[in-house]
Amino acid sequence: MDAGAIASLMQHPINSALLVLDEEGQVLAANPSAQALALPEAAARYAPLLQDLRLALAGNQQQAVACSLPGLERRLDGWLRAVRAPEGGVLAYTLSIPDPDGASRWQVALDSAGHGLWDWDIAANRIFRSESWLSMLGYTAEDAPDDSMETAFALVHPDDVERARANMRSHLAGHTGAYVCEHRVRHADGGWRWVRDSGRVVAWSADGRPLRMVGTYTAIEEQKQLEDRLRRQQALLEEIQRLAGMASWSWDPLTDSGWWPRDLYRLLGQPVRTRDSARAWLRRLPRTATSALRRAWRRMRRDGLPVHFELELRDGHGQPLHLQAWSQPQLDADGHIVRVLGQVQNVTERRRADALLRWRTELLERVSTLGHIGGCEIEPDTRRVQWTDECCRLHGLPPGPLALDDALALYTRESRETFEAALVRLAAGGPPEQLELCFYRQNGQRIRVQVLVELDSRDGLAPRFVALFRDVSRELETSERIELLSHYDLLTGLPNRFLLRVQAEEAIAAAQDGAGDGAPEQGLALLLVDLDGFKSINDSFGHAAGDAMLKAAAGRMHHTLQGGDLFGRLGGDEFMVVLRRPVEIAEAEDAARRLIAALSEPLAFGSEHLKVGASVGIARLGPDGQAFDDLLRAAHAALQVARERGRNAWQVHNEEIQRHARRRLEIEHALRGALEREEFTLVYQPQVSIGDGHPPGIEALLRWHWPGGSCHPGEFIPIAEQCGEIVRLGEWVIAEACRQAVAWHAAGLNFGRIAVNVSGVQLRDPGFAERVVALCQRAGWPPARLELELTESALILDSDNLRHCFQVFEKHGVQLAVDDFGTGFSNLHYLNRFPVQRLKIDRSFVTDMLRDANAGEVTQAIVHIGHALGMRVVAEGVETQEEQAQLKAWGCDEIQGYVYTRPLPPRELAQWLRQYHEAGLAEGWSGTLPLRAQAR
Ligand code: C2E
Ligand code: CA
Ligand code: CA
Repeated sequence: MDAGAIASLMQHPINSALLVLDEEGQVLAANPSAQALALPEAAARYAPLLQDLRLALAGNQQQAVACSLPGLERRLDGWLRAVRAPEGGVLAYTLSIPDPDGASRWQVALDSAGHGLWDWDIAANRIFRSESWLSMLGYTAEDAPDDSMETAFALVHPDDVERARANMRSHLAGHTGAYVCEHRVRHADGGWRWVRDSGRVVAWSADGRPLRMVGTYTAIEEQKQLEDRLRRQQALLEEIQRLAGMASWSWDPLTDSGWWPRDLYRLLGQPVRTRDSARAWLRRLPRTATSALRRAWRRMRRDGLPVHFELELRDGHGQPLHLQAWSQPQLDADGHIVRVLGQVQNVTERRRADALLRWRTELLERVSTLGHIGGCEIEPDTRRVQWTDECCRLHGLPPGPLALDDALALYTRESRETFEAALVRLAAGGPPEQLELCFYRQNGQRIRVQVLVELDSRDGLAPRFVALFRDVSRELETSERIELLSHYDLLTGLPNRFLLRVQAEEAIAAAQDGAGDGAPEQGLALLLVDLDGFKSINDSFGHAAGDAMLKAAAGRMHHTLQGGDLFGRLGGDEFMVVLRRPVEIAEAEDAARRLIAALSEPLAFGSEHLKVGASVGIARLGPDGQAFDDLLRAAHAALQVARERGRNAWQVHNEEIQRHARRRLEIEHALRGALEREEFTLVYQPQVSIGDGHPPGIEALLRWHWPGGSCHPGEFIPIAEQCGEIVRLGEWVIAEACRQAVAWHAAGLNFGRIAVNVSGVQLRDPGFAERVVALCQRAGWPPARLELELTESALILDSDNLRHCFQVFEKHGVQLAVDDFGTGFSNLHYLNRFPVQRLKIDRSFVTDMLRDANAGEVTQAIVHIGHALGMRVVAEGVETQEEQAQLKAWGCDEIQGYVYTRPLPPRELAQWLRQYHEAGLAEGWSGTLPLRAQAR
């Protein structure tokens, strides 16, 4: 633009301050009013602002844009205009600050810029509105709304009107430099339009009251819609980011100001700040997070590249919060970071899920290791296998990939085939299978595994076989051992009771199947063998000796049997043989004889040579057939009889035995509770001293008044011993005998001791001796006047318990007698060990001694032995004067028997005692007493 043109422009008479600028914004000229306002300086100061406006003008063919610069005294509001060449190019720019009074030109300028002008005469309350104002809202001069300020506000949307009024009031009161309000205003078509309403007071009265106010309406509908759209988009974006746990942020490092997502504040439980500095964030965050941020920043500054980092924080409730952040630097031309944009994502849930998954996997891994459970996945097509470490360990292979066939090579052929067959079935849609397989590790160790295999075809994954392996070698070994234990006797290695039963039952079933064509008198036979005297060996030589005995005896018996015979140990010293073929009685008896003979040679145990015998009970499967239990019971009954007959006897089961066994059962049953039903009484038999003036002793003998029939002690005592009833019964006998003795003593009867019979079972019962003493004391009978009659068999069992018993007896003066002496063991050592005062010659010797020289010799010998050991000798079962005379001649000390009297009930015995003394029988026995025939 040439200088002449400018000069002419400057001379143009205008009220405005005017500045002319070139295309670059350099001031070319200024008129005097502009100079007065220091407009050139303001333009230079705000060159960048003016540049923006110039560009806006140049770009969109507009004539003018509003421009407001801070001036020295007031804001410099005006217009920047482009001076265009006729062909449209910009020649120069003018910046004009209009004179306050130059309203019309003002208006023109504004109108051309798309603003509607209003001019309010405050005093007159009249508003002048420009045409563009009217057309903006769809009015014409004719239907223009009323021109008061009230009407103006009436057109404002009810939601906005209060804000507009307030802004207006505050401007009129001088609180604000300008009135500005964005609000909706009613259009002539009835709709609403967004406008920016702005204005300011331009004239004041002398006392400072506003007189005139000028302003513009700018249509901002489009802008508002745009903003709305933007806002909606932003909200949508935020929602999407929120759903993804993401949010964007931006930070300006130069000014340290940034914009951070609201969610971030919310997550951290901090109040939302619209603008926030990084410095403030660093102050608020924990140290670990701040150092991570600093590291990221340093990296980004060094490389100028995006960085990715993680922050570990606490949320508003103090719970762990994991954030993942990305940041992208924006660089200027020099490579300096001018802005950092980023994204932050809350990954706490994912982390938690990951941690949980990790934890579960580890747990599973641990559990499977503990349980020795290995797993693998097999791809059906390629047969490629993924093994767990435990699975490799289980197979004794190093961890790592391994083909299925290499692994299967370890397996036995049978297992391999089983496994492959299962895979085929599974591939065809079969249900999961459990297999028991066996393989050998490379070191030769045999492993047995339980395998659970199935086809896993989950959505989204290719189907594959999943197999779990569990090492069950130990379990199987144990159960096999248990199986062995439960079927074999560990000591002898022979089948035990359980296996014998199974085998015998099978044999019986087989025999019954073949019974039709076999001869009726032939059948399978069951032999029960019971070792005689085993118990005493066990007791005197210890269990080791007993065990060795049993083994040796088992071995010897085994040799006598044939291949097909069953042989096993039922328990204790009882063995069982089943002759698994049709045999005649004679054959079975022959087998029994051979078994007994096998044991007749003494067995060596260390330096000792021990002898055992055996009793055998035989039962034969009858033509009508029996169950195993019947057969066993029959053999037992026969064995019982054989035993009673003495050593090395056998007995074939028969009807008689059957009856015998039945009676035993009956008695055993009836014995229970007999004591409570008071079915027992005692009878008494005197033991008379021969010619030495001692008063007679009295033996108490038990009687059972069983309503079911008569039963003498010789029959029921052994049964009571076997079923343990003897302990209670025996104590009752002692108590009753003592009570009776006290009563007789109180009645002034003269007798020595009272004797009771005691079974070995009682003697072995712990605390027996103490109870005997206590019973005496309770009855008020001196223990020294009590005698216990024991059998040799009870005494032979030397034990601590027994010795203790005898110590107690000795201490209290309880006397001991050996009953039935001469029938038991030849070993008389026990006589030295125990404090025995009396020997009672067994009745069988007395009965036979006058007829049988041998019996007579034994009787004499017993008298000698007794005397040699300082004991008194009693003969029992003396029935005749001759016997008595003979015994007296041999030096026997006391006589007991029918020759004096049968056992008597208490009252009769008292009478007997009285007569005995009255008759002076102590001096010599004439042979007749009225009571003697009375037997009980
Ligand atoms: P024992 O102790 O040898 O008793 C002597 C047995 O010979 C008694 O038989 C008695 O009645 C019988 N007797 C006595 N004098 C004669 C005689 O001159 N001729 C004949 N033929 N027999 C005579 P009893 O009372 O039947 O007792 C049998 C066995 O029962 C007793 O033999 C004893 O071993 C046992 N016994 C009896 N009472 C008890 C008791 O209270 N407790 C225990 N444990 N056993 C008892
Ligand atoms: Ca006796
Ligand atoms: Ca006796």
